[in-house]
Amino acid sequence: MYQDYFWMASFLFSEREKNRRVSVNYLIIGNGVAGIEAALAIRETDRSASVRVISRSAHPFYYRPRLVDFIKEDLGVRMLYAHQDEFWAEEGIEVVQGIEAVKVHAHSRKVDCIDGSEFSFDRMLIAVGADPNIPPFDNSSMEGVFSLRGISSAERLRGYCKGKRDIVIAGAGLLGIEIAHALSASCGRITVIDVEPYLLPRQLDRDGAECLRGILESRGLRFMFGDTVSGVEGSGRVERVLLKSGSVIPADALIVSAGVHARTELALNSGISVNNGILVDNTMRTSMSNVYAAGDCAEHGGVCYGLWTIAKEQGRIAGLNMAGVKSEYSGSVPSASLKVTGVDVFSAGNFSADGGTVLTRSGEGTYARIVFDGNRADGAVVVGDSAIVKEARKSMAGKIGLGEMRKIMEGERK
Ligand SMILES: Cc1cc2nc3c(=O)[nH]c(=O)nc-3n(C[C@H](O)[C@H](O)[C@H](O)COP(=O)(O)OP(=O)(O)OC[C@H]3O[C@@H](n4cnc5c(N)ncnc54)[C@H](O)[C@@H]3O)c2cc1C
Repeated sequence: MYQDYFWMASFLFSEREKNRRVSVNYLIIGNGVAGIEAALAIRETDRSASVRVISRSAHPFYYRPRLVDFIKEDLGVRMLYAHQDEFWAEEGIEVVQGIEAVKVHAHSRKVDCIDGSEFSFDRMLIAVGADPNIPPFDNSSMEGVFSLRGISSAERLRGYCKGKRDIVIAGAGLLGIEIAHALSASCGRITVIDVEPYLLPRQLDRDGAECLRGILESRGLRFMFGDTVSGVEGSGRVERVLLKSGSVIPADALIVSAGVHARTELALNSGISVNNGILVDNTMRTSMSNVYAAGDCAEHGGVCYGLWTIAKEQGRIAGLNMAGVKSEYSGSVPSASLKVTGVDVFSAGNFSADGGTVLTRSGEGTYARIVFDGNRADGAVVVGDSAIVKEARKSMAGKIGLGEMRKIMEGERK
């Protein structure tokens, strides 16, 4: 009897020891939303695992989209941080800042860093984000040329541009417009240039774009379409922006906001398959066993999304799969919500389709177009009408059918 008891106790002890010893070692490269969401999903699933996040950034996880408020409102850096310092210790997540990973070794399961340090892993996530595109133009490295991606670029841009008279922004995408609006509070004239024929062609149809342009121009922004920057000139710093058309714009600074491209160097150095981004399957796994990728650096189904909520979702799915909880990502229908100078802009799905039933509505500073395929909304564009944005969201989620939406658009139902 005592012998049985002794045997059982030692069996349980050795099982516990074994479990402790097989505690999985997770390594995450990048402390943006994708990496952090993965770390939290792993921790939620596996309380005993070692979860370590290493990042090139000197800052803890912060809300990157809030950089626009940061340049506008003179916010302190800490206002951007998502959590208090204690949060990471409480979650049992080790965060190592200021370290850049350069190569992943598949067989030895190690990562080399630029400073010579090494980190081992059982399962690993690459969540290294994206870099801004800088199309080639003359004197592109001259003082006064900026792009915005992280805290340090935001600090430089804010410090330099504050109080300047003329700012040119190359790129009238969502971010370009947000930056223009943010700087309009502290700078003189802001001119936004884009090669496209109208504002936000990926998010808006032409009528929606004209409506938004009218509102933004009435608030002091200036737009030039169908043109691009060919160079900047000045004695040592930007004084003029030259356009392909031959136009010359006096400018104290040029901010380039021409989209982003996935950071793929780490994957390429390590022999992981890459196209425009790091290629992943539905579980967010790369071509290297035990290595996953998520967020702006990842390419799923031929798409690199470059959006916060999608990076967050991909990070969570990667983390769950890394921790052994099967979870699939089946792609996203990007929707964009933008608030510029208080203007609501919503865009989702296949809004330019002509085949289905198209409901439209426009008024003073407002515009809406919702495309139905049968009884289900397939795409929507709404400008300047917060009430219709709410209804359009519901219709895109399948909660409002064609008949009801028609009444709403005709103003019969509030
Ligand atoms: C100003 C601004 C405003 C935005 N506004 C919106 C918005 O309104 N809505 C929206 O949907 N999206 C917006 N975005 C995009 C959104 O912020 C990104 O899609 C999101 O942050 C991507 O998250 P991520 O974790 O994939 O990458 P990131 O946030 O870029 O994080 C990647 C991290 O990896 C680190 N890293 C990179 N290389 C290495 C390496 N080799 N070794 C170690 N660490 C490395 C970086 O330092 C960084 O901390 C905005 C972006 C910017 C810049």
